[in-house]
Amino acid sequence: MAKSKGRGPTLAKDINRKLVYKQIKHERSTSRVGVAKQLQLNKNTVNSIVDELVAAGFVQEFGLQETNTAGRKPVIIRFNAQSKWAIGVQLTSTVMHWVVTDLYANPLDSFSVALASSTPEQVVAALLVGINRLAAQYSPAHCIGICLGIPGLMGAGGSKVIRSSHLGWHDVPILSMLQNKIDISIQLDNSVKLASLGELWHGSGQGLAHFVYAYFGNGVSSGIIIHETIFRGESNAAGELGHMIIDPEGPLCGCGNRGCLEALVSIPALLTRMGRIAEKAISLDWVFAELASGNPQVAAEFEQAGRYIGQALSYVVNLLNPKLIICDGPLMQASAYMFPFIEEELKSRCLWITSDQVTLVRSKLFPLASCIGAAASVIQSWEEGMDSFQSIE
Ligand SMILES: [Zn+2]
Repeated sequence: MAKSKGRGPTLAKDINRKLVYKQIKHERSTSRVGVAKQLQLNKNTVNSIVDELVAAGFVQEFGLQETNTAGRKPVIIRFNAQSKWAIGVQLTSTVMHWVVTDLYANPLDSFSVALASSTPEQVVAALLVGINRLAAQYSPAHCIGICLGIPGLMGAGGSKVIRSSHLGWHDVPILSMLQNKIDISIQLDNSVKLASLGELWHGSGQGLAHFVYAYFGNGVSSGIIIHETIFRGESNAAGELGHMIIDPEGPLCGCGNRGCLEALVSIPALLTRMGRIAEKAISLDWVFAELASGNPQVAAEFEQAGRYIGQALSYVVNLLNPKLIICDGPLMQASAYMFPFIEEELKSRCLWITSDQVTLVRSKLFPLASCIGAAASVIQSWEEGMDSFQSIE
């Protein structure tokens, strides 16, 4: 314990600094007196920290607050969310989605770049092009970092990609491939877990302690938020919704088992089945157009897919009792048609006490939930690590 000798006042200030920063950020607009009252801190302590925040540009002072009491009116202080910016990136096998956000993970800019291939070398090259493009538009000195969302299993702490069947990657040390090539801090996480964080910060999950985010695209997976935190499990692999076995006699899945949800309702699986109906190679646009025009065979496939999804989600609802399930991904462009079948299966397979509580919604952030979550993850790490405003300037 000797190391902590003399650290007491500094440590207390570090803790108070984070508290004051978070309180002003949460309130958006308040006063020094208001912060002191809310946090039950000494006014001088709050004044000193707010002075630091103003000097560092995180807080701005604006006029006088109207009060009903006589005496000096307090100065309004506002959180300056655009004092720093974060970059969130979502990688798929064909496209890289980018978003630049303020400190609330509110998107300021977004763009998508098609990838000629998804080899690690190609991805590193595309990342460098994107970062340079943003550096030309925004002040690099005010960038707090970048997070890359990958559709695959991450090593503990997000150090490398253990496996991504969608990208064809095995044990790819993508972070070390990028280090020494860029000046900004970079981190890595599973793209669906990041999307659940995006929903918590900026989407339908705002204000909820617990909910589930489910993604339906080329892959199928979920992110589980418990106590406003991503639930990761023992191997950082919690949420593998796509590998719940729904039909043991069903088609072979990439994981080696048969009849996983992903093998039944992923976009490639649906296109293969509906391609047999059409007797030609088809696209997702063709499928949605046929559904809209009332093709009964295509409609039957979507109903079956909805029922498979409802079955898988019923296990999630019985196990976790969430208030909300947010469905996202390209397949959910047909959510208006599929939701009744998903909900019917949910109701019939869950205990009434869990199914009565749960609401199913489509993500409002499509296609940026993962990018926004990636930026939120950068902001979260940066805010947890802040020891003084001088050192982060
Ligand atoms: Zn599987």
